[in-house]
Amino acid sequence: MPKPVFRFAPSPNGHLHLGHALSALLNADAARVMDGDLLLRIEDIDQARCTPALERDLLEDLTWLGVSFDGPVLRQSERFAIYQGALDRLTEMGLVYRGYLTRAEIKGFVSDFETGGDRWPRDPDGAPVYPGDHRVLAQPELEKRAAGDMPYALRLNMAAALDRIGTQLNWREAGAEGTALFEPARRIGADPAAWGDVVLARKDTPTSYHLSVVLDDAAQGVTDVLRGVDLRAATSVHRVLQALLDLPEPLYRHHRLVLGPDGRKLSKSNKDTSIRELRAQGISAAGIRTRVGL
Ligand code: GLU
Repeated sequence: MPKPVFRFAPSPNGHLHLGHALSALLNADAARVMDGDLLLRIEDIDQARCTPALERDLLEDLTWLGVSFDGPVLRQSERFAIYQGALDRLTEMGLVYRGYLTRAEIKGFVSDFETGGDRWPRDPDGAPVYPGDHRVLAQPELEKRAAGDMPYALRLNMAAALDRIGTQLNWREAGAEGTALFEPARRIGADPAAWGDVVLARKDTPTSYHLSVVLDDAAQGVTDVLRGVDLRAATSVHRVLQALLDLPEPLYRHHRLVLGPDGRKLSKSNKDTSIRELRAQGISAAGIRTRVGL
């Protein structure tokens, strides 16, 4: 059996909170139990919000927590040329188009559509599926935007992508949320069509979460993805990109989330669950393990 390779992939756009601690500790525990490696990936595509100071704090918090990493750190901000290369490949396959609709235009379209009584489809994250520019903009406006210097998103034509792949996709998932992450893997049917035409890049950003995550997992030789259950549905999109770009398929596990007192997912702006804040209040690393239920 090849050595399992796990990864922890935080974004340094705020301080780590208890949810990150759970994810980092579960990955570290799994790598140790399975005699594997744990790699670190800094997901800093968003250069406006990710700062070197936050990255330093993040590394320091992880060291304090007792999580250490094998191998070199991979920084997404150093890999824009790789992402661009993959985007070019998908474009050459005829699967990428420019979508010019703004969020407000999509919202306006959906509310007009729904006054007719039908519901416009939402993706698994709850956002409206992209309607396509032709449904919303008149021809002269479409031409104006294409000719001008307007912002756009580069979107995957999902129907064409699925046509090209030609088979029903699935993925291997091990365990159940939180408790039984090491149960034997089973195949889960993917439902990429539910996402519609996902964003692969934007005019000024040559990648998106979906595109970079599949390229980076492959580049780092990740065999075991263990991440929060909020990203489970996105695995369908990741399988599409892996199939199109001939990338290996890791084994997936999705863990429970740490919820705030309001029952919602923690966010980086929530001060009282930040690891830094809890450290300042005198909690120990063992105390953090207890707080996240390990
Ligand atoms: N960067 C993502 C996050 O902080 C994790 C991505 C992943 O594990 O696939 O939520």
